[in-house]
Order: sequence, then C-alpha cells, then structure tokens
Amino acid sequence: MTDNANLGAGMDEAGQLEWESPMYHEAVAQFDRVAEVMGLDHNVAERLRRPQRSIVVTFPFRRDDYTEVDTLFGYRVQHVLTMGPTKGGIRYAPDVNLGEVAALAMLMTWKCAIVGLPFGGAKGGVRVSPLDLSRSELQRVTRRFTTEIIKFIGPDTDIPAPDLGTNEQVMAWLMDTYSQHVGHAEPAVVTGKPPELGGSVARREATGRGVVSLLPAAANHLDHPINEASVVVHGFGNVGRYAAIAASEMGCRVVAVSDIYGGIYNPDGLDVMAVARHSDNHRTLEGFPGVDRVTNDEIFTLDCDVLIPAAIGGVVTRANADDVKARMVLEGANNPITLEADDILRDRGVFIVPDVLANAGGVTVSYFEWVQDLQNYFWSENEIVGRLREIMNRAFHEVLHISTNEGVDMRTAALIKGIRRVAEAKLVRGVYP
Ligand code: NAD
Repeated sequence: MTDNANLGAGMDEAGQLEWESPMYHEAVAQFDRVAEVMGLDHNVAERLRRPQRSIVVTFPFRRDDYTEVDTLFGYRVQHVLTMGPTKGGIRYAPDVNLGEVAALAMLMTWKCAIVGLPFGGAKGGVRVSPLDLSRSELQRVTRRFTTEIIKFIGPDTDIPAPDLGTNEQVMAWLMDTYSQHVGHAEPAVVTGKPPELGGSVARREATGRGVVSLLPAAANHLDHPINEASVVVHGFGNVGRYAAIAASEMGCRVVAVSDIYGGIYNPDGLDVMAVARHSDNHRTLEGFPGVDRVTNDEIFTLDCDVLIPAAIGGVVTRANADDVKARMVLEGANNPITLEADDILRDRGVFIVPDVLANAGGVTVSYFEWVQDLQNYFWSENEIVGRLREIMNRAFHEVLHISTNEGVDMRTAALIKGIRRVAEAKLVRGVYP
C-alpha cells in the first residue's frame, strides 16, 4: 500500500488508524471477509470500512466529594448517515474507547439493515465505571455527556438507547437534558426510556426475548426439540435476565446463569424468577441457595444444548472454543465470539445465530418506540410483541435462506443481507458533490 493509500484508509503518517483497537480491527476484518465473498464494489467497501462521523469529548465530572473533579472521555460514533437517522446504545464502562464504539456502530448498521429498519448504526460511551458511581454522580455524568454531544443527536439525526452500564433512568436524564436545551419535551430523542416518558412497554425485555424468539426456528432447523433443552446464559443484566426468563417460559431448562461476580449452576434447572428476585435484592447472584458456584470461565464449558452469551464481547476465544459443549449458540451480547473462535465452533458443527440477527430485537422495539413517540400514538404490548416476533422470524428465515442458497454460515449470510442493503442505498444516492 502507498503512503497516500494509507492516508485514504484513515491512517495517519505513522500508519495508525484513528479508531485503532482490537475490536475495530476485528469488525473491519469481518466486513472485509464478507465484502470479498459478495464481490462488493470496492469504492463502497472503502466507505463502509470507516465510520462517517466520530465525536470524542472530554468533560469535567464533579464527584460527590466536592474536592474531586475528574476529566472523563466520551464518544459517539455514527457509522452510516445514508439510511435515515443513526441509532445505537450508549455504554458506561471503565475501558470503553473510540475503536470499540466504532466497531459497535458498524455492527449496528448491519443489524438495522438485516431487520429492515430505516436507520444507520451508531454507538456511544463514557469511560467510567458505573458500579463506582452514586445515583447523583451517574446523573451528572449523563447530563454533561448529553450536553457535550447535543449538537449531534436528535429525533431526526441520531437516537441513543441503553447499553452496558446504562438503563431506563439514564435515558430519562438524557431525554430531560435534551428537552431542557431545546425548550420542549422531546421523547423521540432517545429510546429505552421509562413508559411514563413515552418509553415503550416491552422495550426492557425486547432484546432478551427477541434472542429466545429465534430458538424454536433454530431448533427446528437442527431438528432438535426445544422442550427440556438445557440452556446456559452468560450475563444476567438486561439481555441475559429476559433471555433466561423467556427460555424457561418456553419450557427449556435454564441450568446456569452468571453475572460479573460469577455464575450459579443446577443441572436440574434453576427457578429463574427466584434468581431474578435474588439478583434484584442483593445486586448479585452470590448467596442463591441450592446451586453450585461456577466461574465466568467455567460457565462456557458446562454441558448444555444452547449457550446464550449475553454479557460482554470477546468471551469465547481460541482458548476455550474447543470446550464449548453447546450445539447452538444464540449471541445475545455483541461480539461475544472472536473470529478465530467462530471458525473453531463452526468446524465443530455448532450452529451460531450471530449477534447482528439474534439481538436485533432491542433495536427493533426501539424503532417501534421512536415511531410511537413521533406519532404520539402508543401501541399495546400484544401489538409490540407480535410485530417483534414477526420481524425477527422473517429476518431469521431470510438469513437462513441466504446461508443455504449461497453455502455460507449464518454470520456471513446475515452480514451479506445487511451490507447488501446499505451498499445498494449508497450506490443509488451517489456521491455528493
Ligand atoms: P447490562 O449492563 O444490563 O448487563 C450486563 C451483564 O453482564 C450483567 O449481569 C453484568 O454483571 C455482566 N457482566 C458485566 N461485565 C462482565 C464481565 N467482565 N464478565 C462477566 N459478566 C459481566 O447490559 P445489557 O444491556 O444486558 O447488555 C449485555 C450485552 O448485550 C452487551 O454486549 C450489549 O452490547 C448487548 N446488547 C444489549 C442490548 C440491549 O437492549 N440492552 C441490545 C443489543 C445488544
């Protein structure tokens, strides 16, 4: 590659990418692999490898101890502005960085296109540990971060949502801050809000329930009965908890779940609702009676039919992929399986429903929420759940069709579907000026 080509590819003179990080490299490597399989137009491919807009902010944050003012880093990346407004979560985590957010924004673009939503992908984050913050500290971080990115978000431009370490209350503060600045209530600026502010019923459960709504179709494809199927869920937050509840409601045996402190295991099946109550009361799974403790490494190696990683990225790697016993993996989290581990699992015949498809239920119900806010007309829970199930299942079957017809795995098939839609939109819009 010439120096000029390097600069064109977003590198500075030292060959550094602006979004340098292992996760970004992995997202681009995955994209390149699929672009090659599809024979994607190389000009469009080059545009899609780089996020269109990346915002980095630093801002002061006063701790409850008034003598302490920290400087925090915040990010918002909007990957593709071609399809409509951009859409994606905001995460609070101690190690979040621009490259991670850029990778996740790219994934969001494909995800929205796979389920047919009129959005490009975005993602945001603040590098802070939410577990160390008091409620008022969390509120100050949120209001100041919102103010820093306020020119770049809005119902027609970019619509944030919750992600790791953020929740409905954080979205309520974000909506309030935005509304104070524009001088009127603007619920459609954010999704995943409390229902009192125009939030959608069933949004909280949507991602986890959406993941599990694909279980019958996936099991049917594998000719595997779901009744009594044993399920392991890594993570017991927004996604993991409702995935576990939905799986158990469907008649599966949820044998293990975990949170950041470790997991609990009972081969006869856990009482998931009792686990949820324990987690609410104690903010940990520790101390739940009548179970064995397992570590967050051991949980991936437990005997089960279905594994649902629903916590963080990069947890199934070359080091543990051979020990995974599940026949099927439904990716609740984003990027839970590294590219190398993906190859190993596929070679071993494990059926993987990839993140861009499996966890698209969250953004789908967010889309419903945005539409309802714009129209000030709210749907019933039954309408929402019914439409979610229909969209998820249609997308699953379309992806399975591509996978079978084009002889590719489900991840490649899902990405072909998403990338193709975005590339076609880019080509018909053309280059300005
Ligand atoms: P959350 O913060 O509500 O829950 C995260 C869970 O993971 C918690 O149980 C936490 O204890 C556990 N955890 C955190 N760090 C961990 C670690 N280092 N090791 C093991 N466990 C750890 O987050 P969430 O909203 O449930 O999101 C989980 C994943 O799903 C993320 O990858 C997120 O990007 C993805 N996702 C979320 C949504 C959504 O609607 N919330 C939608 C799509 C994808």
